[in-house]
Amino acid sequence: LGSNASPILGKELVDYITQYLGSIRERRVIPDVKPGYMKELLPDTAPTEPEDWESIFKDIEKVIMPGASSPACTELEMNVMDWLCKALGLPSFFLHHHPDSIGGGILQSTVSESTLVALLAARKDKMLQLRVELNQDVDDSVLNSRLVAYTSDQAHSSVEKAGLISLVKIRYLSTDERLSLRGDTLKQAIQEDRRRGLVPFLLCATLGTTGVCAFDNLSELGSVCAEEGLWLHVDAAYAGSAYFCPELRWSLDGIEFAHSFVFNPSKWMMVHFDCTAFWVKDKYKLQQTFTVDPVYLRHENSQAATDFMNWQIPLSRRFRSLKLWFVMRSFGLKNLQAHIRHLAKLFESKIRSDPHFEVPAERHLGLVVFCLKGGNALTQELLRRLTRSGTMYLIPADIHTKRIIRFTVTSQFTTTEDILKDWGIISKMASALLAETQG
Ligand code: PLP
Repeated sequence: LGSNASPILGKELVDYITQYLGSIRERRVIPDVKPGYMKELLPDTAPTEPEDWESIFKDIEKVIMPGASSPACTELEMNVMDWLCKALGLPSFFLHHHPDSIGGGILQSTVSESTLVALLAARKDKMLQLRVELNQDVDDSVLNSRLVAYTSDQAHSSVEKAGLISLVKIRYLSTDERLSLRGDTLKQAIQEDRRRGLVPFLLCATLGTTGVCAFDNLSELGSVCAEEGLWLHVDAAYAGSAYFCPELRWSLDGIEFAHSFVFNPSKWMMVHFDCTAFWVKDKYKLQQTFTVDPVYLRHENSQAATDFMNWQIPLSRRFRSLKLWFVMRSFGLKNLQAHIRHLAKLFESKIRSDPHFEVPAERHLGLVVFCLKGGNALTQELLRRLTRSGTMYLIPADIHTKRIIRFTVTSQFTTTEDILKDWGIISKMASALLAETQG
């Protein structure tokens, strides 16, 4: 819980749990609240200033306990996902509570699962359209075999995995010199595939690629998707947290075309894994993909209440929004922004000041990529030695044929001294390695 965490507060929470278990027989088994009860108990936006734990703690009894696990779990999630949507500057069509919106946000386990969910929803929607157009009884497997989805050659392997699971063809499109996917490349691929008799249905664009934190050109890609009838899914796994800061929102240009958007608060927002924020513009597209209706899941509020089981693959759900609620309140938007602005500029300046190193891609946000000028084998050997030393864990990536090392700062506990210490180890090991190879 950030700066005001203390063992006393931890003990207070454990005492509360013990007291709850002791008084469990006096509490109602089924909550006595109406669907939507929580909305009026919470503000419409996350606080700007941090709140003390005492007031957050009091709200557990006041806001959560009357709704027990359900509907409290669903309702806190809806309210907190709206807070997050507003705080990141995402479009209002992703809000649960908005008069013109049929969308909303849900916490999934991972970006991988969310991308699969988006693919399955986009596939279902396209298959329903095709069935109407073809006006004949064609087997789903025949329709599935004609579908094609797109992503860039820099996309995360989770897109490939979604294709493996769904048996859908994924086509990897080339990026430009800044490793960004452009609208013309997508347009051309769609035209080629239509000539081959395929049916393009989805683009997974990345904001902040895993390798170098490159950004696909959302405004160009979005208008192509709109013209061509493709679902636009946006994977901002790491970069999503940056949008707390208005000055870092330039890459969201074109987000108005998105059908779904996902990012991981567990990466850079100080919320523990697992916690993946996923929004859709049209919840009915999820529901038509995932709704099942066995008798043991029916309840009297099924018309009035949101049932997240119809928005996802699993049935059971964890109470993930609690930790998001705690973090947003105990830091406040002001401190979340300050955390994001604490970028990796210092490390970049150190790397650039040493003539043995190269920074082969522009730094965005907190990720600096670097390599030794002497070629891939040297860079790989430096990484091997750093890993073996046990002092730091960095992972490699490739920019086309160039092997690079990634250095990223995401923890609120990282200090200037930590970064300088890491740089000291890296530069010393690199000097020793270069002396050996030259000597
Ligand atoms: N997408 C991108 C761009 C990523 O960088 C990552 C993980 O690093 C993922 C997806 C996968 O995230 P998850 O582990 O939540 O499935």
